[in-house]
This record gives sequence, C-alpha cells and structure tokens, in this order.
Amino acid sequence: MSDIAVILPDGTELSVEEGATVRDAAFEIGPGLGKDTVAGVVDGDLVDKETPLHDGANLVIVTDQSDEYLDVLRHSAAHVFAQALQRLSPEAKLTIGPWTDDGFYYDVTNVDLEKEDLEAIEDEMRNIIEEDLDIERTLVDREEALEKYADNPYKRDILETEAAGDDELSFYEQGEFEDLCKGPHVESTGEIGAVKLLNISAAYWRGDEENDTLTRVYGTAFESESDLEDFLEMRAEAEERDHRKLGQELDLFSIPSVTGPGLPLYHPNGKKVLDALETYGRDLNEDYGYDYVETPHLFRTELWKQSGHYDNYQDDMFLLDVNDEEYGLKPMNCPGHATIFKQGSWSYRDLPVRYAENGKVYRKEQRGELSGLSRVWAFTIDDGHLFVRPDQIEQEVEDIMDIILEVLETFDLDYEVALATRPEKSVGSDEIWEQAESQLRSVLDASKMDYVVESGDGAFYGPKIDFAFEDALGRKWDGPTVQLDFNMPERFELSYTGEDNEEHRPVMIHRALYGSFERFFMVLIEHYNGKFPFWLAPEQVRILPISDDQIGYAKKLKYELGDFRATIEDRSWTLGRKIREAQTDRVPYMVIVGGNEEEAGTISVRDRKEREAQDVTVEEFRDHLEAEAAEKRPEPDFLADEE
Ligand SMILES: [Zn+2]
Ligand SMILES: [Zn+2]
Repeated sequence: MSDIAVILPDGTELSVEEGATVRDAAFEIGPGLGKDTVAGVVDGDLVDKETPLHDGANLVIVTDQSDEYLDVLRHSAAHVFAQALQRLSPEAKLTIGPWTDDGFYYDVTNVDLEKEDLEAIEDEMRNIIEEDLDIERTLVDREEALEKYADNPYKRDILETEAAGDDELSFYEQGEFEDLCKGPHVESTGEIGAVKLLNISAAYWRGDEENDTLTRVYGTAFESESDLEDFLEMRAEAEERDHRKLGQELDLFSIPSVTGPGLPLYHPNGKKVLDALETYGRDLNEDYGYDYVETPHLFRTELWKQSGHYDNYQDDMFLLDVNDEEYGLKPMNCPGHATIFKQGSWSYRDLPVRYAENGKVYRKEQRGELSGLSRVWAFTIDDGHLFVRPDQIEQEVEDIMDIILEVLETFDLDYEVALATRPEKSVGSDEIWEQAESQLRSVLDASKMDYVVESGDGAFYGPKIDFAFEDALGRKWDGPTVQLDFNMPERFELSYTGEDNEEHRPVMIHRALYGSFERFFMVLIEHYNGKFPFWLAPEQVRILPISDDQIGYAKKLKYELGDFRATIEDRSWTLGRKIREAQTDRVPYMVIVGGNEEEAGTISVRDRKEREAQDVTVEEFRDHLEAEAAEKRPEPDFLADEE
C-alpha cells in the first residue's frame, strides 16, 4: 500500500497509509491521542473519526479538550431528543437536527407539540443519558436506507439529493433508535452532562416557505450542569435586554405586519437615536475627507446587469416592471457611487475620491430568517466608497481603521479583527492581489492589533478586513468592514489618467463604520440594556416638578436647557411615582424642582444610577451636560465627582 500525506495544524506533514482514517492518523501521532480521539476536522469540516483521509488533507484531531467537542456533544444531544420524542410519540417523523452556535435543534413533523410538552421529553432525555447507551456508526446500503424511510419523505429527499451519490449511507444507532446522519458523535449518551430544551417554533422544510411547515425544537447541551446554569443565566439576561422587547417598551421602533415583514418603522424616540448616530458618523466622515452623495432607491436593471448583481444576486432583489421596463430596488449602494465617479474625468492627482451615503438598501431575505432589527428587508448602510490608486491603498485603509477604532471605542465595544485573503476563484492579477494583501497586512501589523488571517476567505473580487464586535454580554456581531474591490472598477470601466498620461483602473474600497444602522441599533439597545449614553438618549433630561405649582419654573428650566432633549413630567403623580417612571424609561437625568428650589433658583439632579446632587445651578448642570455630550462617555462621572 502506498502512503499519503496529511497536513497538521502546525503545518507539518504526516505520512499515513492510503485508506487511513482520522483515528488511524491520531494513533500515528501518539497512542494517547489515538485513544482520546472523538472526531476530526478535515479541510474545515467536522467529521467522524472513521472517515478515511485523502492525500493533502488538512487535519485537526478533535478530543474532549477541543472547541469542536461541544458541537459533537450537542449533535448527540439532538439525537437523544429525537429518541426521547419517538419513545413518547412513535408517530413523529424526523427531518434534520444539526448543532448550532449555542445548542441544537431538531425539525420534526406529524406530531402536535406545545411548549408544555418539552418537560416530559426532557425527562425522557435524562433517562436516555442515564441508560448510557453506546452510540454506534453503521453503514447501510442505499436500498435498505430507502426502505427504512419508506414513510418519511424528508429523509428520502435527503437520500435523493445531498446523499444521491453515496452507495453506502452512515447511520448512528443508540439503543432502539437510529438516524441517517453524517455524525460525528460522542461514544455514548452518558457523555452528555446536561441538557435543556429551550423553545419551540415553526420552520419550513429546507427553509423554503413554499414547503411543508415543520416544528422546530431548540435545545442545548453542556458537559456539566454548572456550564448549563451559566448559559441559562446569560440567556435570561439577554432576553431581558432583547431589543424587540426594549424597542416596544421605550417606543423606539415597530415592525407591524400591516406594513410588511422586515420593514421597520422608527418612532420619534428611535429616530432621535439614529439622528445622533448619523451626525456622529457624518462628522467623522467629513473629518476624513468624505463627500456625501445621494442616490435613489430604485435603478433600471441595466445598472444591475453592469454591476453583476442581476446575474448573481437576482433572487435577493426586489424587481418591478415600470412601463414595460424592469427596475430593481437597490441591494447595495456601490453601483450608484461607481456611476457617479464615472461621470467625472480624473487625474492621478484627484485620487483618492471618497463618497459617503447613508443609503437605504433592500434585500429579500427568507421570511423565516427575519428577526427584529437583526435581519430585515430594508436597512440603511452607513456606506463609504473610495476610488484610489493601487499605491494609496495602505494610507487609505490606515485612515479607515482609525475611524473604525474610534467608533468602537466610543461605544465601548470589544472587537476581533480578521484579514480574509485571496480565495481559489478570484478576479484580478496576481500582482494586484499581492500588492493589496501586503498593504492590508502592513496596516494591521503597524496598528499592533491582534488579528487572525482567514486564508482564502476573501471575496472573489478582493481581500478584506472584518471586524466582529462583542457586546456587554460577550455576544459577537458582524461589525465594520473594509473591502477591496478589483472587479467593480473593471465592470464599470472606471479610469483615471496616470502620471504617464495613460488610462489606469482605480481600486475601489467599500467600507462601513456601523455596518447597517439597523444591526448597530439592535446591538446598542442590547449592549446598553436601553440605557443609552447621554449623547444618544432620545430623552436626555426629564424635569419633575414636585407639585403643579412648579410647572412654570419647569418650563423656564426647559427653555434654559436649550437644545438638550428635555421634557416636563406634568402628570399629577407623587414624586416617587414620577421618579420610578423616569427610571423605567431609562432617562439619564432627572431634574427635581420644588418650592425651595424655585425660591433659590436652583435644581436638584438625580441620575439613572440614583446619584443625587442638591443646590445645583442651571449653568453648572448645563456645563456638565455639554462636557458629557462632547466626550460621549458611556460611563460618565456624576456632577459632584467633578470637583
Ligand atoms: Zn445526526
Ligand atoms: Zn459597496
């Protein structure tokens, strides 16, 4: 038998016999590792340890110490769920049950399930774990597999599509239960330390709303009860902060069904926050030499054909006929900006040209995927497009990184950075890719930021730097991006006249600071738990007269606070109730005025942290507010702390 070579994570090659499996390779490295092997990651895919290796495969051995172990464990928990369900409701039909970032789900049908039923299933799951059943992989031939699923059209569909080419199908068995499955799994059900079923919802077969509706049961699993408890605590906190819940309580936005799915309406309070974000972004962009442009929501499909969106993105676009001509709502702002650039004639001295627009875009996401502000049909990108000479990439990217870092710092968001490089299929010359990637690397190296390189993860049209931010609960969200593009300038035949008097192609850079306003707004609502920093708060100050006698004085104070967003609580409530209400509404400052204050011409101030100051003059208060607004501090000092 001849040998093949596999590549280990540290880049070394390991020679193994042809036909060797993941586990064989692990034994080759060391008998200890061989025994501990749970699964493998081959070329990026988590696979069973019995999977045969091919020459040149990238191999990572998974043990119970690996990050991937939790995925394996959770997939096994999904099987335990399915087994428990079938013990209780033998008529239930199984479809698919993958692991997810924080647990697993299983889509089932032919069974009536309500949230109240989950507890009984969970109890049965614990029995199965207690029984410590061996989980065994078996290979079944095609005919037999089809027979097993004679009355399950979903599993048959899988056999006839994804698994169409396989003569032998892998099944996993535990006790009386078996499931068509690629794995991998843990050795026995007893390895699962803790399980919890979390939720139930509707889902469509293959995510397509034209298909059958299924019941999706969500759950999670951990190695230990204490890990599960930590998770449930975090989850309760996240639910408490859910932006859909806070959005309603604080009257920020709504997405009513009458206006259509994924089409958010911003109420006055929400719009005030967006305005503050927009102004901040505009100031930054103008400092860094961006010019604002504006483009309409709709273009002829001619434009989308030129940009390539029509060929590659059509299914996600809203297209409509107007007088026998086809138009499309814009899914991206770049083609409009490229067209503006094309209207000019440019010399090398004019570059870089930087356009900015808070541009509304429309993308037809699957209805089932829509959720609050995180996935919508209509959203606004704080878009920027730069047209630069290849030798300017480094300087421009450096500036963009500076703005992004300033934004992340302002909002007190932690972040991770990744450089995504040339994928196998790409457009553009070797020369431009090498030049661009080395410039991005040198910006990242000079910035002293920690970053990971995601080899081959760039877009086909250029490399990119992606930021993921981490909110106060440690959750990660897609954040700002800096994306180089060698393709669109080509498609739009953009050019500038070089020093050599020849025509040259500029490189286009796409960048966003917030990403989309919708996503960013969602993150901020949850990150701050609705307690927006003063400069963002829709209502910054609420004046609470102790009795109706001070309403006149309250009006005078409101006037003196000028442009700050102040309101007067004029309902005839007790002071205690007025304070509680302002606290619930998360107003940063309460100004409390009674007869004494009016007589002395002063105010009492109380903040959201229940810190209080008496005998404050309006001037002092206003100076404090001005400083706080200018510095945009997320965790401000209180008045009295400043002296
Ligand atoms: Zn499975
Ligand atoms: Zn763009």
